[in-house]
Amino acid sequence: MAQLLRIAIVGAGPAGLAAALLLTRDGHRVEILERYEAPKPLGSGLILQPTGLCVLSSLGLMPAMLAQGARIERLFGADARTGRTVLDVRYNALPGGRFGLAVHRAALFNVLHDAVVAAGIAIRTSTEAATIEVSAPGATLFGDKGGSLGTWDLVVDASGSKSRLKASSYRPAEPKPLAYGAFWASLGWHGDGFDRNALQQRYDRARVMIGVLPIGRIAPAGDEMAAFFWSLKPAQVEEVRARGIDAWKDEVARHWPQCAPYLDQIASFDDLTLARYGHHTLKMPAGRNLAVIGDAAHSTSPQLGQGANMALLDAAALAHALRAYSDIPNALSAYAATRRFHVRLFQALSYFLTPFYQSDSVLVPYLRDTLVSTVAKVPPAPRILALMVSGMLARPLASTGLIEADWAKFSSAGEPRLG
Ligand SMILES: Cc1cc2nc3c(=O)[nH]c(=O)nc-3n(C[C@H](O)[C@H](O)[C@H](O)COP(=O)(O)OP(=O)(O)OC[C@H]3O[C@@H](n4cnc5c(N)ncnc54)[C@H](O)[C@@H]3O)c2cc1C
Repeated sequence: MAQLLRIAIVGAGPAGLAAALLLTRDGHRVEILERYEAPKPLGSGLILQPTGLCVLSSLGLMPAMLAQGARIERLFGADARTGRTVLDVRYNALPGGRFGLAVHRAALFNVLHDAVVAAGIAIRTSTEAATIEVSAPGATLFGDKGGSLGTWDLVVDASGSKSRLKASSYRPAEPKPLAYGAFWASLGWHGDGFDRNALQQRYDRARVMIGVLPIGRIAPAGDEMAAFFWSLKPAQVEEVRARGIDAWKDEVARHWPQCAPYLDQIASFDDLTLARYGHHTLKMPAGRNLAVIGDAAHSTSPQLGQGANMALLDAAALAHALRAYSDIPNALSAYAATRRFHVRLFQALSYFLTPFYQSDSVLVPYLRDTLVSTVAKVPPAPRILALMVSGMLARPLASTGLIEADWAKFSSAGEPRLG
């Protein structure tokens, strides 16, 4: 019988909020510490893959997510100059009815946050955890000015890629900055020429990547939205800004004229958020009385769209390990072992694939546009690609204590089929 613990979760992102719900459901006494005054989502949209959706389904949150998200059936990318198809991955290349669900981060945050509030889980805001010390009574967190924030049996570090606590894990590592990042914006959805059930991208070699992702609504009755992104090097942002917003818009429109209705919604660079990407993987996502989950344990470029889904899987794996083992060291070892292969596989795939879409290379995108795009059509490649994009390569569910969602129950986003 597993013992019931006092647990502090640092960070109210997808990892922290999901972990709080799962651990509270198992009877642990959980408190969330969040640095911001009011917990808030950061960034634009993301795709919840079948893996992440299975975690949300286990929490009973699928209907709420479906009511807001946009169902994604396909990831499609074409060469901006020739129109030639470069990427065409379909979830239905595999049987079973899996799909992705693209959401505004605020929608994911609100659904998880509302559930946390409904479960009566305390969120201590304006509380930044800087360091952790472990002694006889447990793990003590300290704030920036050195004051104690409290002592718990276990601390869960869910504070994202810039986590300070991960320095106290057994094998610490810091993210290595990647050359390319992106401008992102959440805009009103404009359907003409765009597929409401697909992520669509245009490329010019690997220097230009433009994306439009339908992300549904922030609230069930809200307007439909799209996430728009433009790949660029953070080191060149000042140069781009100096040329002016109209010059930037002209450049985007030159590559993808159908984007005009989105560009019309961007008045200045203030409407764009610059995302910087980094890559790191903790060899051991744990320390003494410390579990590290989500982006704190592994961050990468969003090329494969797995980050939030991996964070949700980590939360489920940690709860599963604490259910299986009555002592914390064994539970933490089990958590790390459960996630090791899946995390390393997807981190390696992201690292390997990123230069195909974001790099200065001429050869790599040439191979992508010729060899890879041809091979990708030949069986079993479409099935392998669908497995990869859905996050299901290496079968991460069973070892995490999850069962696959009953996809047939959901005929289309927002309309769960009853009965
Ligand atoms: C542009 C972009 C696009 C992306 N697209 C996708 C996608 O399509 N699919 C996908 O799955 N993933 C995507 N990702 C990745 C995804 O956003 C992350 O993997 C996910 O947000 C990680 O969740 P997390 O809870 O671990 O960390 P975060 O979301 O970073 O949350 C961390 C929380 O901890 C808080 N915090 C930080 N430090 C402290 C501290 N010291 N004390 C207290 N609180 C603290 C923060 O305020 C925040 O609330 C994308 C990322 C980016 C940047």
